[in-house]
Amino acid sequence: MSRKPLIAGNWKMNGSLEESRKLVGVLRAGVGMASQADMLLCPPYVYLGAVQTWLAGSSILLGAQDVADRQGSGAYTGEVSGGMLVDVGCGHVIVGHSERRALFGDTDSVVATKFGAAQAAGLIPILCVGETLAQRDAGETEQTVGRQLTAVLEAVGVEAFAEAVVAYEPVWAIGTGRTASPEQAQEVHAFIRGMIAARDATIAPGLNILYGGSVKGSNARALFAKDDIDGGLVGGASLVASDFLEIFHATA
Ligand code: PEP
Repeated sequence: MSRKPLIAGNWKMNGSLEESRKLVGVLRAGVGMASQADMLLCPPYVYLGAVQTWLAGSSILLGAQDVADRQGSGAYTGEVSGGMLVDVGCGHVIVGHSERRALFGDTDSVVATKFGAAQAAGLIPILCVGETLAQRDAGETEQTVGRQLTAVLEAVGVEAFAEAVVAYEPVWAIGTGRTASPEQAQEVHAFIRGMIAARDATIAPGLNILYGGSVKGSNARALFAKDDIDGGLVGGASLVASDFLEIFHATA
């Protein structure tokens, strides 16, 4: 890894306020002065303000799991704007997670709009892309990831990727305990970087591309050793402080 690794925890809709407080306390102590990588926590919206307070004075970063596809303010019941996320201390936001795509109707075009809205508010979007098992078995991995990435590239331009992160998350590996092998992941990461390089060779080398899908302490080091894998987007294991810290320290 030549870029500064990023280890991002996606808590999804899990945990109570008290559990979150304990988790943040252990992570703060475990990260200490380590600076070989950045740790990012993405709790549920309603805990963002509290987590921001608990993180005061720590190097751990705060992010959100999603953002509205509208900018500014308005009559959008239930939505949370990028500006509001910045207000409570977020610097990053996940867009296009496969659960949003599969369960909540986030199409390629909605994801592209969210990516743009996040950047307009000053947030760094973490764009998730990845194929289903059926698509991988049909030999359509690059076609799928390419389509998801192209939708965003066409909407915002390659320049926008100078201030963005991409996460390759094969859907068949998310929450299943089944991880892509380091070689399988590296192949797709190189494909993603190549797509960016084909449009702008100066932006591609600096782009952080995370791997997500059942990352654990036991497989993290081998994944992060690959040239184009710049850290992880971690779901389940980010809820257990010792597991998440093991993954974080696997970047050293
Ligand atoms: C995720 O939620 O993005 C994810 C990768 O989950 P898990 O680590 O549990 O597979």
